[in-house]
Amino acid sequence: MSAVTPVSLPLLGAHVSIAGGVQRAFERGIQIGAAALQIFLKNASQWKAKPYDEETVREFKKNWKESGIRFVAAHDSYLINLGAPDSLILGKSVEALRDELERAEQLGIPCLVIHPGSHVGSGESAGIERIANSLKTLLVQTAGFRVQICLEVTAGQGTNLGYRLEHLQQIIDRVIAPERIGVCIDTCHLFAAGYDFRSPETYRETFQQVRTLLGGDRVKVFHANDSLKGLGSRVDRHAHIGQGQLGLEAFRLLLQDRSFCSVPKILETPKDDLGTEDRMNLAVLRGLL
Ligand SMILES: [Zn+2]
Ligand SMILES: [Zn+2]
Repeated sequence: MSAVTPVSLPLLGAHVSIAGGVQRAFERGIQIGAAALQIFLKNASQWKAKPYDEETVREFKKNWKESGIRFVAAHDSYLINLGAPDSLILGKSVEALRDELERAEQLGIPCLVIHPGSHVGSGESAGIERIANSLKTLLVQTAGFRVQICLEVTAGQGTNLGYRLEHLQQIIDRVIAPERIGVCIDTCHLFAAGYDFRSPETYRETFQQVRTLLGGDRVKVFHANDSLKGLGSRVDRHAHIGQGQLGLEAFRLLLQDRSFCSVPKILETPKDDLGTEDRMNLAVLRGLL
């Protein structure tokens, strides 16, 4: 046995705003008592933003260190679609994600969560092929980067891909550097996509599929969101923890699952500016440990 067993303090946190600059995320994380954060790297509804200046990067790293926050993930912009059949949009998407990977690398962020993409009517297999090819291009362009791309499970709204674990498996199987690809499991999305985990039996079954198809080690981050809509609804509406269709038991099973105890769990639940709702949801999660 090792002399010091690391205290397995749960890595619980939330997505926080970067209003005023990415370096401002940490004060918001401290305000809600987070151990883990997720941020956008720039305005998430615009294609382009000016590069970070040196001061911003320095302050980001300094604030991170002083905050005691142990994990930061980034989330990609909503505009990016690596599965777009329109070559103009596809090109813009690859370019925009390359820019985000560079930003994450600059800030020392280990994990960039992305929605795999939508096929926009071109069919699922064509979409998966395009997503895999886009990732191949990006992995070559960013060879040597430490940041991992984490493919998020989606609810499967519209033509969004990633609502079957097999979609993620097929994408990962096709890329050249699978060690640079992780997975983000959003509890709301997983449930809305049709995977139940509200009882010990269904939890075991669903996460056995995760382990078989993707590998348990592939899961780098969870988005902890309850779901306003029902199992298999394929509608993506986040609810406060315990106040949606998933309910507390599903979160209890996840938080008490030792195989994921070191994997960060990040809220993307409705929030106010003061952080009151994030603090409330974090307290609910801690109460389940
Ligand atoms: Zn999410
Ligand atoms: Zn969502």
